[in-house]
Amino acid sequence: MNRLREILQRIDGKGYKAYKDIQGEYRFPKFLLFIDYVQGDPFASPTKIRVRMEQRQAKYDPDWYHTPHRKVALKDFVARRLAEVIRREKPNIGGTGKSGLIAVDAPGQTILDRTTVVVTPEYVEARISIGLPASGRRILGQKAARLLLEVIPSIVAKSLPKTALDIDQLEEHLKLSDNQFAIRQYMAQKGWIVFVANGSVLPRESGISDRPLTGDRVVRFQSPPTLEQSVPVPHGDPVKGMALPRGVHLIVGGGYHGKSTLLKAIERSVYDHIKGDGREYVFTEPSAVKIRAEDGRRVEKVNISPFINNLPFGQNTERFSTEDASGSTSQAANIVEALEVGCRCLLIDEDTSATNFMIRDGRMQRLVAKEREPITPFIDRVRQLSEEKSVSTVLVLGGSGDYFDVCDTVIMMNEYLPYDVTDKARQIVKQVDNTRQAESGGSFGSVTPRNVLPSSFQARRGNKEKVDAKGLHRIVYGRTDIDLSALEQLVDVSQTRAIAEMMRVLAKLADGSTPLVDCIDRLYEQIEREGLDSVSPFYGMHPGDLAMPRKFELAGAVNRLRTLRVT
Ligand code: ADP
Ligand code: MG
Repeated sequence: MNRLREILQRIDGKGYKAYKDIQGEYRFPKFLLFIDYVQGDPFASPTKIRVRMEQRQAKYDPDWYHTPHRKVALKDFVARRLAEVIRREKPNIGGTGKSGLIAVDAPGQTILDRTTVVVTPEYVEARISIGLPASGRRILGQKAARLLLEVIPSIVAKSLPKTALDIDQLEEHLKLSDNQFAIRQYMAQKGWIVFVANGSVLPRESGISDRPLTGDRVVRFQSPPTLEQSVPVPHGDPVKGMALPRGVHLIVGGGYHGKSTLLKAIERSVYDHIKGDGREYVFTEPSAVKIRAEDGRRVEKVNISPFINNLPFGQNTERFSTEDASGSTSQAANIVEALEVGCRCLLIDEDTSATNFMIRDGRMQRLVAKEREPITPFIDRVRQLSEEKSVSTVLVLGGSGDYFDVCDTVIMMNEYLPYDVTDKARQIVKQVDNTRQAESGGSFGSVTPRNVLPSSFQARRGNKEKVDAKGLHRIVYGRTDIDLSALEQLVDVSQTRAIAEMMRVLAKLADGSTPLVDCIDRLYEQIEREGLDSVSPFYGMHPGDLAMPRKFELAGAVNRLRTLRVT
């Protein structure tokens, strides 16, 4: 610590580059400080530091992290605490550019495995970004000393050791995590794909917010009696709510009655949510993928023939490629790509689907002969997917009753409450003639694995490698941009950053003879062994801003890479 003080005194008033001298390791009374990366100027991306407190100081109870889900929850809790303390302590250091900045990668409504905080039996470590103070390009040594020798130790003391944590709150956080884990296990045993607890709050504050809607207009979820199940949990009373088993489920109802809101909550509940979010007891099969139309996207040799055949000019649909997919071909490709990486449940909303992909009614069948229509609509494949491939579907569709023929359950949303109208829909099927003919002969067919060629990944831009997340939905990969806005289950920009880094690793695993899904599995095995840190070029130092993405979003990014080439 004294050595750091001396260096800061020595470089005070010098040019900014002299800050490079502080890179290194310093022993403080209660923790180790690592200055891993020093920014090049006051405006450049900030300096990365780590603070590591030994467990004999931190005194974490091993019970807090003895299972993988508890460890994730504990790290999440400490990261939130750290972010809160930084927000409160925000010192007014001042200076040019990012001078005086202190930041951590803070979690949102979702609990994800992230790299902000690390907990081991030996220590707890936090990764922090700071802006080294300057006036113009001159080093402000005294301000830097205040930042590093006073403010940071004070923040650390208030956020890392056991004595700084609200233990009741932490216990509650961990118990919720236990319950969430237990319910997911129970669902897997029972073969349920969705569980929505009674009392859940599904609507969000606004279209651009992930926080719950509040006020007296909120209608809390209440399961229809016929679909209600009770799940035992380790802490507290059994949780009651709506359970959907594997199969095909249709959500219908009038416009603005809460159909999409229910599906959105289902989409997001592949992840766990924090207490008070409203969705903390909503759960979805972890491999569920939201599917939507995405015209304009690129597609590389995907077998979309279950859905599309006989395109003009005899274009091949078993190895379908395009630089500019249509609504229906993009939706078909999105489904097949999801199946390729192991998706077991499709989530589809009419609001974001291509109509001609979803339905084709009896009258249209009469007018346009099957031979002239390349599309086999989803309605003719949804049962095959369920029966042959054990791939379930939850579908929002208020505009066509043709799906009554092919679904297991019909849920009607009425004034934001769900009703089980399956029997009624069955009666209607019997009573009302439908001239629609099923169009899918045979079976769904197989999903063809694709081997990624290493040339797909061109990370160079000029003579440097450039791979970077630009917000939640964009990755710059070398000279191309990847548009991820159709990946609606990507929830945190730290996941996007992780995907960008993971693509670099994939570039090394791709050899032209290993299927994409196997490359991705290998990468996840590496992460399982070595942690998410291991995908970062800062491995061993400061990869403090990554959060775990799912395989589906990683594959989704690869599939949207405009330079992707496969065999
Ligand atoms: P639909 O898809 O049936 O047309 P949406 O799900 O888009 O309807 O919901 C319409 C509006 O109602 C949205 O503004 C949404 O926030 C609100 N809403 C949805 N569910 C609830 C609820 N349970 N309580 C209060 N408002 C809700
Ligand atoms: Mg809707």
